[in-house]
Amino acid sequence: MSAIGNSAASRDKAFILHPYTNLHAHETQGPLIIERGEGVRVFDDSGKAYIEGMASLWCVSLGWGEERLVQAAAKQMRTLSSYHIFGHKSHEPGIDLAEKLIELAPVPMSKVFFANSGSEANDTAVKLIWYYNNALGRPEKKKILARVRGYHGVTVATASLTGLPNNHRDFDLPIARISHADCPHHYRNAQPGESEEAFATRLADQLEAQILAEGPETVAAMFCEPVMGAGGVVVPPATYYEKIQAVLKKYDVLLVADEVICGFGRTGHFWGSQTMGMQPDILTCAKQLSSGYLPISAVMVSDAIYRACVDESKKIGTFGHGYTYSAHPVAAAVALETLAIYEERGVLNHVRDVAPLFQRRLRALADHPLVGEARGVGLIGALELVADKTSKTPFDPVGRAGAVVNGLTQDNGLIVRAMGDSIALCPPLVIGEADLNELFDRLTTALDAAIPVLRG
Ligand code: PMP
Repeated sequence: MSAIGNSAASRDKAFILHPYTNLHAHETQGPLIIERGEGVRVFDDSGKAYIEGMASLWCVSLGWGEERLVQAAAKQMRTLSSYHIFGHKSHEPGIDLAEKLIELAPVPMSKVFFANSGSEANDTAVKLIWYYNNALGRPEKKKILARVRGYHGVTVATASLTGLPNNHRDFDLPIARISHADCPHHYRNAQPGESEEAFATRLADQLEAQILAEGPETVAAMFCEPVMGAGGVVVPPATYYEKIQAVLKKYDVLLVADEVICGFGRTGHFWGSQTMGMQPDILTCAKQLSSGYLPISAVMVSDAIYRACVDESKKIGTFGHGYTYSAHPVAAAVALETLAIYEERGVLNHVRDVAPLFQRRLRALADHPLVGEARGVGLIGALELVADKTSKTPFDPVGRAGAVVNGLTQDNGLIVRAMGDSIALCPPLVIGEADLNELFDRLTTALDAAIPVLRG
């Protein structure tokens, strides 16, 4: 221990391989150690408070220290602390949660499969799609589409679906049978003068051309986040989903709504699918399902998909997929309590009450000299930093401006997330107006402080 030192920071550097971290920079920079949380704030080990403008990683919807969730976990721990649902076993928390999710689904859904993370839920969706098409006797219909800048996880299959270079580079990904459609980001990808609607039409036409080039008999499904999160918070243009869904239907391509960020009120409707007008065949969710207090995720499937899987299982036997902790009873109990709190406290109505202030203050920052675009919906948004507002020219190198603003907001007692040069905001759903105003005041101070650093 003596060579390493006793501080938490030095032991962190000695022992943790950090996820999603610049490993080389971490060896000198070290960690910010967060010790506790209360409401919409977290506190580091020196006692400094931060407004958590990202709800941890887009998940702590109810804020920190929600005693009812603590109690729900403790109670379940005492009753049945762990059990599985393989081989015809089951338990009440899992059953109750499945029933509740089917009741809440944005379109009629038949069954719920439980996993522990967004990645596992999406990975399961990929496997279900393949299983389904084998069941239907069309083994060639297996290709899956996702989108450039889409984010669906980091397992081998879901990292392949993710359309971000760092998730592929040096990991030998993507795997075969996965390809990416264009990103529906009007600000970056529309042609000069192209309206949102014309842009949406062009993207739908391109999607059709892509499906035809692949061979429609080989294309099984398309994964879409209703609002793209980790790719920089992209709200697709008006009519986009209407138009791409017509294309998918035409070629019998399933739509998977990845609601891992959007689910449970984030965009101002209970599901992002409702905000964006999507009718998915499969829906995946996680994160805010348990307010991020315990790892749990879910995959909901349509009756057609479920029935085909049952028929296949009748032929071949056991459906050979499942996780030890699928429907973990403690995680399920916490998720059920989270859903009960959403209802009892009218969390969705609260989001609708405060979202106009959030969006107004976000969009006011579009006038800031460093900001090219302010975008978002509900209680999610992003600012894209640019070197030149008129030409939309990014800073060079890409990512530095994001890192500078990220550092300055942290100094200012606010946690945001830089994705390249887009600064994302996704505060706890329960945030009040005073804290929202403080969040934006701190962000504005950080942006002002970044001007001399980036332009100096
Ligand atoms: N899908 C989306 C839309 C996500 O935002 C994320 C995580 N940020 C995932 C999937 C993967 O979830 P996890 O990190 O829990 O595996």
